[in-house]
Amino acid sequence: MTDSLCAPLYIKMHGADNVAIVANDGGLPGLTRFPCGLELTERVPQGHKVALADIPAGGAITRYNVTIGYALDDIPSGSWINEFKLQMPAPPRLDRLPMATRQAPKMHPLDGYTFQGFRNPDGSVGTRNILAITTTVQCVSGVVEHAVKRIKSELLPRYPNVDDVVGLEHTYGCGVAIDAPDAAIPIRTLRNISRNPNLVGGTMIVSLGCEKLQPDRLLPATANGSDRGYDLVTLQDDAYVGFDSMIVSIMTTAERHLSQLDQRRRETCPASDLVVGVQCGGSDAFSGVTANPAIGYASDLLVRAGATVMFAETTEVRDGIDQLTARAASEEVALDLIRQMEWYDRYLARGEADRSANTTPGNKKGGLSNIVEKAMGSIVKSGSAPISGVVPPGERAVTKGLLYAATPASDFICGTLQLAAGINLHVFSTGRGTPYGLAEVPVIKVATRNDLARRWHDLMDLNAGRIATGETTIEEMGWELFRLMLDVASGRKTWAERWQLHNSLTLFNPGPVT
Ligand code: CA
Repeated sequence: MTDSLCAPLYIKMHGADNVAIVANDGGLPGLTRFPCGLELTERVPQGHKVALADIPAGGAITRYNVTIGYALDDIPSGSWINEFKLQMPAPPRLDRLPMATRQAPKMHPLDGYTFQGFRNPDGSVGTRNILAITTTVQCVSGVVEHAVKRIKSELLPRYPNVDDVVGLEHTYGCGVAIDAPDAAIPIRTLRNISRNPNLVGGTMIVSLGCEKLQPDRLLPATANGSDRGYDLVTLQDDAYVGFDSMIVSIMTTAERHLSQLDQRRRETCPASDLVVGVQCGGSDAFSGVTANPAIGYASDLLVRAGATVMFAETTEVRDGIDQLTARAASEEVALDLIRQMEWYDRYLARGEADRSANTTPGNKKGGLSNIVEKAMGSIVKSGSAPISGVVPPGERAVTKGLLYAATPASDFICGTLQLAAGINLHVFSTGRGTPYGLAEVPVIKVATRNDLARRWHDLMDLNAGRIATGETTIEEMGWELFRLMLDVASGRKTWAERWQLHNSLTLFNPGPVT
């Protein structure tokens, strides 16, 4: 490590802030003096806040030029500010918000960037060529898992142009109030996942037979054709005698699809065919300083290239809703944003919780005192483009540009809903560290700190920690990520793909179970 990296360093996000975070690995001891003359009164861990001025009891604590809380006691300059020193402000009210008021920044089109993708009949483009086996109910999971294992070892090696075989297993399908209004969310989520661009159209279903979620309810025939458009294996069918006969049937059907998928080849596609979901998880105070601003910069590049970018995580944008409604491309989009926030407020209230349930012990250990501070660092992933649409949970995105996908912030549920929204690439930032992955879509993981990137060198695809130490800039890192996205979309494997790490599909079911 060079001397300049060891020198005491804090990062202030906005000129009006009265706190900054300590950048140095391992934090800094009491009595450390910064070049500006500020002296620490006590040890401050890395990523945690230090008071830049005396803050009186009741005074506003400002980061990102936003009040993230009020001092519970007098806080002298140079003190460590953690979650015990401040009181959280109330969330912004959802009436009288600024509606599409912000003048959109000048964004010049970005031409000439391409990737090698699999073009689908519906016009979408896959970044991977995957056979998916859709399931209607959890009951069939064990059988499908068994079959997938055998397909992968016995059949897949014979079809080199197919990347993978994935069983779309989940915990839904029966034991639920299937006609309750909220049941629409998990059902359409599953339907749209089976149509994800990397899975070419839900062509194979394994069903049990007696479950509530019947195959034609999951994937209704198109309005103009009687052709149901998929092959169905129903385990309770009289034709099956013994476990092996079910496996043989699934494998025979799978092989037919594998031989078709194997005919496909990558072709040159414009960057505008990318549909990228961005998410953060295992966040720390560096998420909003390094990785997320770089993702925001890359997100603007994608929008300029005509692509679709989705940010999400309702409880992590709720406290910045005034920024988002102002950035909406039209009043209609602003109203859609508010409707999703209202729905989620009610959903949380029903469970006697509020948005403060979001922050984890690890977030706090990493320096994030509360959800307001976490939200400000999360929203920067969306860059500066106008928000051109809102995707309700489980729906598929239909417009281009920067979209808000209304999803919970839970990593697995957010990822699952973004799959339904039609992403063909996922970017995930983490500060505390998570080995997160999706089987259906490549996930590029971005580390927020050098220390995490060093320890998890074979799990993190990009190290944005170099921004904090001044080794690179947000702009340079944003371009690096943009180019990495094009490479990964063209087939370059992420670390999660190399180790075959992926999380389970986790359907968002706000409806009742029976
Ligand atoms: Ca998340």
